[in-house]
Amino acid sequence: MSGGIIESISSVYKRISHAAMRAGRDPSAVKLVAVTKTVSAASVREAVDAGVRLLGESRVQEARDKVSALAGDLPETVSWHMIGRLQSNKARLAVRLFDMIQSVDSLDIARRLDRYASEAGKVQRVLVQVKLGGGEARAGVSPERLSALLEGVGSLNNIVVEGLMTIPPLLETPEDARPYFRRLREIRDEAEAEGFRLPELSMGMSGDFEVAVEEGATIVRVGTAVFGRRNYG
Ligand SMILES: *Cc1c(COP(=O)(O)O)cnc(C)c1O
Repeated sequence: MSGGIIESISSVYKRISHAAMRAGRDPSAVKLVAVTKTVSAASVREAVDAGVRLLGESRVQEARDKVSALAGDLPETVSWHMIGRLQSNKARLAVRLFDMIQSVDSLDIARRLDRYASEAGKVQRVLVQVKLGGGEARAGVSPERLSALLEGVGSLNNIVVEGLMTIPPLLETPEDARPYFRRLREIRDEAEAEGFRLPELSMGMSGDFEVAVEEGATIVRVGTAVFGRRNYG
């Protein structure tokens, strides 16, 4: 698998660049978060050796194990992003582990993160996850409630919202995801018109990241296209 990861990463970067250029965007405006859930610490290292600096995990405990397995082994410039649903009893540990928490979707979880960040003497960077279809069970704040949530989080001193994240419902083709990505960008533009500052748009995964980049993604979260198919054991 050795050359595998390096080649896959270089191919993903190329595809990001081409998609950006098709849309008249600067390719360097798009950041790759390599999603390392179920991926071994050794493979994470390979990805970092190949130049990846942002790593995404969806479970706090798995991230903790990987971070300690790799302690002292990764450059200081590596940062971890939480991309999965955050349970409130894991919030304190999440603040300790993650530079960015992409999945904030309630004032309750934001207040907890703010409290733990204050205790830890840090300002926690977050994205607000927006739910665009996919049913009630799906994580994320509804577009109608976004302003109120941003307003509430704005009053907290130890947490800063840098943008929005979304996961579209399961779709047949990458093109089917386009309206969702476009919608997130429009929602961001509307919120910025209200005075919120939301430079980051985290959208697009292995199956559809090029479409997301064409629609304005600044962060893509890519697992399978970097590491191969996940084995959940
Ligand atoms: C697993 C996961 C990804 C990566 O999915 P791939 O299809 O393997 O690229 C992206 N975002 C979230 C929130 C995930 O849970």
